[in-house]
Amino acid sequence: MNGSHEVRQQLSRIAGKLCQHGLVAGPGGNISAREGGSMYISPSGFALDDITQEGWVEVDVQSGVVVSGLRPSSEVLMHLQLYRNRPDVNAIVHTHPVYCIGVISAGRDIPVMFADHAAILGDLPCLDYVLPTTAELADRVSQAIGSAAGVLLRNHGAITVGATLKEAYFRTEILEDAAKVFVIASLMGAPRVLSRAECAEVQALESEEYRVSLLQRMKG
Ligand SMILES: [Zn+2]
Repeated sequence: MNGSHEVRQQLSRIAGKLCQHGLVAGPGGNISAREGGSMYISPSGFALDDITQEGWVEVDVQSGVVVSGLRPSSEVLMHLQLYRNRPDVNAIVHTHPVYCIGVISAGRDIPVMFADHAAILGDLPCLDYVLPTTAELADRVSQAIGSAAGVLLRNHGAITVGATLKEAYFRTEILEDAAKVFVIASLMGAPRVLSRAECAEVQALESEEYRVSLLQRMKG
């Protein structure tokens, strides 16, 4: 296998973790990573943890042409547009996390209630329901994301992006934790949300800057 070996290995490892953590069910969700002018994306119809290292589909980012592999994920347009519009993004994780979908589909936001949410994820824009797999969804997501770390999709799921696959993955984990924390806090009483000033204070910590910069460099 050529230079794509490392990226295929990382994709298979992260795919396994997404399934272990229950962030997707059945053949749901899709992930990709960019290398050079190509992206490597999950094939359509496979559970993420059933994809072999050879199974990741190589697609040319500019033309959208499949270079090698089976039919790519039905959300291929969403991935392509995000890579075309965000040169800083090298990985995309799209999942269907249960608590996240539950909270946003009730019309609620997922507020920032703990430090890692402020430091690693930040606020995400939220889109009303759009039919999955369509060009409209790809357009709406790439318009809504701006410079954010992801987009929330009501009645569907979430997308997180990153400079590395590890960063995009951690962001999805933290997002689902944030939704769980908010649900538990709401059941127990009145959730206390971090203020803008408290979030800014976390983001300014030298130790957080170090962690975030490390995450943006760590590939494995
Ligand atoms: Zn989806």
